[in-house]
Order: sequence, then C-alpha cells, then structure tokens
Amino acid sequence: MRADRVAERLRERELDMLLVTHMTNVRWLSGFTGSNAVIVLGAEERLFITDFRYVEQAAAQVEGFDRLEGERSLLADAARRLRGRVGFEDAHVSVRTLKRLEELAEDAELVPAGDLLEELRAVKEPAELEAIRAAAALADDAAEAVVLSRGLAGRTEREVALELETEMRRLGAEGPSFPSIVAAGPHGALPHAEPRDVEIPAGTLVICDYGARLDGYCSDCTRTFASGPVEGEMVEVYELVLGAQEAALAAVRAGAGLKDVDAVARDRIAAAGHGERFGHSLGHGVGLDVHEEPRLSKQSEGELVAGNVVTVEPGVYLSGAFGVRIEDLVAVTEDGYESFSRLPKGLTVAGE
Ligand code: ZN
Ligand code: ZN
Repeated sequence: MRADRVAERLRERELDMLLVTHMTNVRWLSGFTGSNAVIVLGAEERLFITDFRYVEQAAAQVEGFDRLEGERSLLADAARRLRGRVGFEDAHVSVRTLKRLEELAEDAELVPAGDLLEELRAVKEPAELEAIRAAAALADDAAEAVVLSRGLAGRTEREVALELETEMRRLGAEGPSFPSIVAAGPHGALPHAEPRDVEIPAGTLVICDYGARLDGYCSDCTRTFASGPVEGEMVEVYELVLGAQEAALAAVRAGAGLKDVDAVARDRIAAAGHGERFGHSLGHGVGLDVHEEPRLSKQSEGELVAGNVVTVEPGVYLSGAFGVRIEDLVAVTEDGYESFSRLPKGLTVAGE
C-alpha cells in the first residue's frame, strides 16, 4: 500500500507525521478524485478528512484510512491531530495557510517535507504505467485522425487544436492533459505558442504538442509535421532534432544521470551551431501531473530509475522562421525504455 511506503520515508526522515493537503498527492495516496480533502499520515495514523459533499464518494473510493467528515475547516480538523515533528507540503502550502497551521497545531513542530511524495510518485506501479500507456495511445489515435488523415494546410491552428481535443474526448479521454499546441511556421519558434485563428500555409513546419488525460493519468507527445513539401533549412533542422532525440533516447536506462541524458541531445544540437536555440530542458516526468519528477535538465542531480516515465523532447527554435520539436513519452526500464509514443518520426507531410 502506498501509505506504507510513505510511512517508511517518514521514519527515514525522522518525521512523526505528514500532513497532505495537495489534491494530486491526496489522490495518489488514497484514490480519492474529489476536490477537497486532507490526509494525516503517521506510524499509527491513517486519517482521511473530507467535507459533507464528498462523504459518499470517499466511502466508495478510499480504503485503508479512517474516514472522517470535517466539521468547519479541514485544516483545523487535521491540525488538532498533529503531534511531534510534522512534515507539510511546502511546495504547495501558501504563506497564509502555513501561518494558520502554526496557530492551530500547537503540539506540532512543522517541518518542510520537500518532494517526499513527489519522489515516490516518480516511480510508477504497473497499473500506473498501463494508464499512461493507454492515454498515450488514445492521444496518438486522435492525432492520426485529426492531423495525419486530414492534413494541416488551409485549416487554422485553433481549429486543429480544438478538433484534437474533441477527438480525444470522443475516444474516451477525460480531456486534454494540457491545452494543445498547434503552431505553424514562425509561430512554431515560440516553444509554448497558443493556437491562433490563422490559416496554416502549405509548405511549412507545424509543431503539434498534445496529450490526453485518462483515469487521472496524463500523456504528452509532440510531432512536427510538414503542411506540404519542405526543403533546405527546414529539413536540415528537422533531421538534426530527430538525431538528437534518438541519441538521447538511446541513453535512457535505469542508472543514467538525469543531466547526462540531457547533455546527449544538447551537445549534438550545440555542435551543429544551434545551442542557443534549444533553450528548454530535454524532458520531464509525466503521471497524474503532466509535468512532474524527474526532470531531464542541465541542473538535475540524480539518476533515472526503472519505473520513471519521462518525455524526451529536444527542440530548435529559429526566431522569425520556424521551430522543430520531437517528443516521445517513455517508461524507463533496467536496460532501456518502453516507448508509449507510436506515431512515426520521419519528416511527414500531414494528409499524404
Ligand atoms: Zn509536450
Ligand atoms: Zn512535454
């Protein structure tokens, strides 16, 4: 049980209790999908507190915890039970909430817990891998129907993005895991471009970055398609990014340094003279959140472990001209990875 894994971490960190207020972590720990609950977890305590609206839902979803209906504020109800050294989720608790908590929890010493739960969430269980695999397959099916079959030229970025999201829902997704990016030509040089009401011209590169949410779990994939035949620098940069992406993927395995995998792609792109045009990190973990631990970046310490799910997504952005990003979602294994992204990566003219 996940709560037991957390209790073990608490012992290592010499914490008596953990107060869990961040809803994604509440969900991961208990299975509860509602929007208001607090968990108090200790060596002896397994306490789940929610409000009147969610009592029935919690009875159906939450096992292995003593369930309590909160009286006034869940925070006050939880605070009364806190004793000793109590970890709190400092990445998610506001200054105001912390102040209230200090007033309410008189018998507790509040200690920042850091990424205690996020680190556990970074290593996926088989059922979680299955959920992410299914979300990725669903999103690929949507991209196949909306982009690859119908083509891009003559449609607006917004139309394509909206249809992608509608198709994902039609195929059973709870929704997109983040607002889809469809960015053509010079607009693709903005890594986080928002789709515009602008028609996509023929013969340019179009970045499509999309993901689905299924059973709470996210997927994340990017393909850069051509909207018609392209040549010259567009092809060269595309091949450079693809080579860097495949080289980085080949470095993915349990035990690989997070910053080392990032460096594989970054060095290749720098060697081709585009180092300044790859300004973001190589990848990020994906799970209940679309961006979570671990991060594949220049600054990341630590190593990949089996069960991590990460993206590998180098990009090159030529201001005023075009951008290329290619992103796969993979599960790390002892000797490599399993890719959850199935769409082809060779330069493809959408609709042909
Ligand atoms: Zn993405
Ligand atoms: Zn991503």
